[in-house]
Amino acid sequence: PDDQFEPDPTKKNLVILGTGWGAVSLLKKLDTENYNVIVISPRNYFLFTPLLPSCTTGTVEHRSIMEPIRSILRHKKAAVKYYEAEATKIDPERKVVAIDDNSDIKGASNKTEVSYDMLVVSVGAENATFGIPGVREHSCFLKEIGDAQQIRKKIMDCVETATFKDQTPEEVERLLHMVVVGGGPTGVEFAGELQDFFDQDIKKWVPEISDKFKVTLIEALPNVLPMFSKQLIDYTESTFKEEKITIMTKTAVKKVTDKTVEAEYTGPDGKKTMQVMPYGLLVWATGNAVRPVVRDLMSQIPAQKDSRRGLAVNEYLVVQGTKDIWATGDCAVAGYAPTAQVASQEGAFLARLFNTMAKSEAIEQQIHDLSSSLNLQPGNTAEIAKEIETHERQLRRIKDIKPFHYTHQGSLAYIGSERAVADVSWLNGNFATGGGLTYLFWRSAYLSMCFSTRNRVLVVLDWLKSKAFGRDVSRE
Ligand code: FAD
Ligand code: NAD
Repeated sequence: PDDQFEPDPTKKNLVILGTGWGAVSLLKKLDTENYNVIVISPRNYFLFTPLLPSCTTGTVEHRSIMEPIRSILRHKKAAVKYYEAEATKIDPERKVVAIDDNSDIKGASNKTEVSYDMLVVSVGAENATFGIPGVREHSCFLKEIGDAQQIRKKIMDCVETATFKDQTPEEVERLLHMVVVGGGPTGVEFAGELQDFFDQDIKKWVPEISDKFKVTLIEALPNVLPMFSKQLIDYTESTFKEEKITIMTKTAVKKVTDKTVEAEYTGPDGKKTMQVMPYGLLVWATGNAVRPVVRDLMSQIPAQKDSRRGLAVNEYLVVQGTKDIWATGDCAVAGYAPTAQVASQEGAFLARLFNTMAKSEAIEQQIHDLSSSLNLQPGNTAEIAKEIETHERQLRRIKDIKPFHYTHQGSLAYIGSERAVADVSWLNGNFATGGGLTYLFWRSAYLSMCFSTRNRVLVVLDWLKSKAFGRDVSRE
């Protein structure tokens, strides 16, 4: 690429917020020569979230699923500018984004504005807590690399503290009680990975806690994994039973303290009972909430008044009520689930759309130029008119962009003890499968989805390493 990013005044400024699934998939396919592309995100890498639960126990090392945005941008034809910053406010009137460098090291310039002609909001979502007291203060989330590292550290801290000299039996029981709240795929995959870690490694090194380590998964609805078929829900629940993971369904957590979780269970007769459970580690995985910068943008656009879960977009992913703002992924409401699959297809769609828009603008310009020359060179009229017609035909073909259409490839989740569940659409049929073979399918599917060959090799090496030597139980 051109080494220097020199904004070209004849091109539009395309500002992309985020470096997650939506933004990176857009960047991958975008022809960056058509625009002055500026990427803004507090995270200078792409994170392959499907393998994040495996990082909490060291089955996979965290750096294996990160890809620096710098290396992604380096491969583009024209240089792209990247600023490590958070967008704090979007002003659709003035067409500017306020950005703030919130990292540890700040320079003299750390707050400024970036103006855009076109803006893509791909900032994802934050963790939902529903305002439940104590959640933010006492639990771990599982969304970012730092969360996985914190969990990994805490698991071993609980184990070491439980085996401390003269530890009381109640305290041992509390410290070794690992509670996961939320029975969506994040909670289920984490519970499975955690139980594996215990069964395959911790137990070997710290045998005295063998019968005391306990994983509990709490879910407010009547069953876990609501997006999977009934058969796979049953399979997951029976596998968890074998793995000795306790599932508490119809149980909603209402309050969290530093050592206890208070949850309300609704019985078959509708009667509600409160339960207080002491815990050592608490992982909170109850889904998504809207980020403040997105909420603020929504409040400025009257057409977003009734939208609750994010920026309502039309079938071309244009934010309703705006002309030059698009949104993808978890911060957009397009009628699909907030998944990586959806975000990456939306990103790829926007790349096609923007490439086409640039092409058609170029042809429009050519037609305009030819039309003007028609007046200046009356001799060549027939030839020029023919050329204009060709361009117009080309333009019609290009402009015929179909709206965004999502193709669901299926749902996959790891459930522990080398088993996975999959609802996959294939050759117009649907397959629901669970078990060891599905686990191999899960591994190969996720491997093929990894960002780069480097990531793929690192993940395979991590899998081999943890299989051969066991997971590392040092608390670093
Ligand atoms: P993200 O990927 O979250 O990216 C958001 C980006 O915006 C990040 O780079 C972030 O740093 C940046 N950002 C945040 N705030 C700002 C700001 N103010 N200004 C600028 N940038 C900002 N989906 C699947 O389909 N399959 C799976 O197996 C799967 N597994 C998952 C496992 C886990 C543990 C989790 C948490 C999620 C999983 N998902 C999975 C869901 C999937 O990760 C999300 O749907 C996907 O990440 C959404 O993509 P996105 O681009 O909208 O947001
Ligand atoms: P989710 O929204 O899918 O599930 C959260 C669960 O928490 C819900 O079932 C909800 O009933 C429960 N819950 C909410 N409040 C509660 C409370 N107070 N007490 C007890 N339970 C409560 O969230 P997720 O699992 O983080 O997933 C988020 C998105 O990411 C989803 O779209 C999911 O499909 C996707 N994802 C996919 C995969 C995969 O495909 N393998 C893995 C992880 C995440």
